Amino acid sequence: MRSPAISFLGGVREIGGNKILIEDGPDRILFDFGPSFSPRFEEYYVDYLRPRSTSPAKDLLEFGLVPRVEGLYAREALADADLAYLPPTVHGIFVSHAHADHAGYLDLVDPEIPVYVGAGTREMMSAIETSTAMRYGPHDYRIFRDRIPIRIGRLEVVPFPVDHSIPFAYGFVIRTSEGSIVYTGDFRHHGPRAHDTHEFFRAAAEERPRALLIEGTRAGPDARRNFSEDGVRAEVDRLLARRASLALACTYPRDIDRLVTLYRAARASDRSLLVSPRTAHLLATIAPRFASEEFPVPGTSEGPRVYARKKKRYFNWEKPFLDHAIDSEDVRKDGGRYLLALDLLHFPELIDLRPPHGVPFIHSMSEPFTEDDVDDRVMHNWLDHFGLSFHQLHASGHASGPELFDIVRSVGAETVYPIHTEHPEAFRAELPGVALAELGGRYPIDASRGR
Ligand SMILES: [Zn+2]
Repeated sequence: MRSPAISFLGGVREIGGNKILIEDGPDRILFDFGPSFSPRFEEYYVDYLRPRSTSPAKDLLEFGLVPRVEGLYAREALADADLAYLPPTVHGIFVSHAHADHAGYLDLVDPEIPVYVGAGTREMMSAIETSTAMRYGPHDYRIFRDRIPIRIGRLEVVPFPVDHSIPFAYGFVIRTSEGSIVYTGDFRHHGPRAHDTHEFFRAAAEERPRALLIEGTRAGPDARRNFSEDGVRAEVDRLLARRASLALACTYPRDIDRLVTLYRAARASDRSLLVSPRTAHLLATIAPRFASEEFPVPGTSEGPRVYARKKKRYFNWEKPFLDHAIDSEDVRKDGGRYLLALDLLHFPELIDLRPPHGVPFIHSMSEPFTEDDVDDRVMHNWLDHFGLSFHQLHASGHASGPELFDIVRSVGAETVYPIHTEHPEAFRAELPGVALAELGGRYPIDASRGR
């Protein structure tokens, strides 16, 4: 019988696209299955040029943009690809969280393969499917519970909640017949669920793991500014107090922590947070999972209000939010009452909003990686045109390099595999026992025994 092994089918030398196969004898499970956003992908597919919906797996396999794994893809997704359809040889997929780079290719997967997710993640995925073009495909979803082990053949998987820039994120301890493997998913410990991250790594260390698969998004050179979530709040408070005019903010659509931060800051300065119907739909879906009365529940008297753009037609899921919605005219009349969360996609609203010169625009997202980022240039053109004052205020979803290295030391795994990073060698420069995995490489966990 072959010894347990880890195969890295994605997330190698790139941020995102994690696809980790762990096998023990005949039992094989995958952790995450999301698209790569690497330059290699964009050599073949860009905005307007997509894989065909009738054969998405075939069209990605053509360029090696998804791994050639038999018994994984849906028959329909393969169509007549040169990788033949086989009944499942993978016995489950665990999804760490609902970000696209971890869950965005589930649509390609054979519906016969069970998909294991947290309850909150499942709800977010439903809300995303309802309100966007995203499709995860039909699956046998199995809901896992915090720290409750799930056995699949010889493998046992224990999901631990962690702090990340989307709620309901998990890391995993995977027990094999030859010892444990720890897979971190994406995490930080400067957000509201920092305690969860600490608990996860404490439990991980107790496992005395053979291997640690750790994300390294911010390892290596990273000159970008980063606040804690509390730090973002303090800065937003300061900006909102400074002048009584409208304020604008832009966030990632699923960064619920940031929306909560903006909501609380808005309330503290006697403003209403204005969100899109899509954000309202997501908040309303997951609100029952949050006990705090400070959670922004749309439709409640204290809740955020919905900003309605003029549209030719509205989707059914938008309609419940439109009755008491605020429009550009309302905002133009009385801007000081609002903090408007405006997606870049909806910037043409500024033409109707006519914000007074000098209104703060809070960019509460990552700074661009490169100086020639097109979206960034376009955004600044708009801000300059309307004379808005730009403020970069973001708390990353990821731990810093030094924090990552401290965690690796505290876990004390035999072998450390940095993934989800462009700079795995940054770990090797700081730490012993670091292995640089190759894309598609298969690494038995007993190979390092006695090292
Ligand atoms: Zn990620």
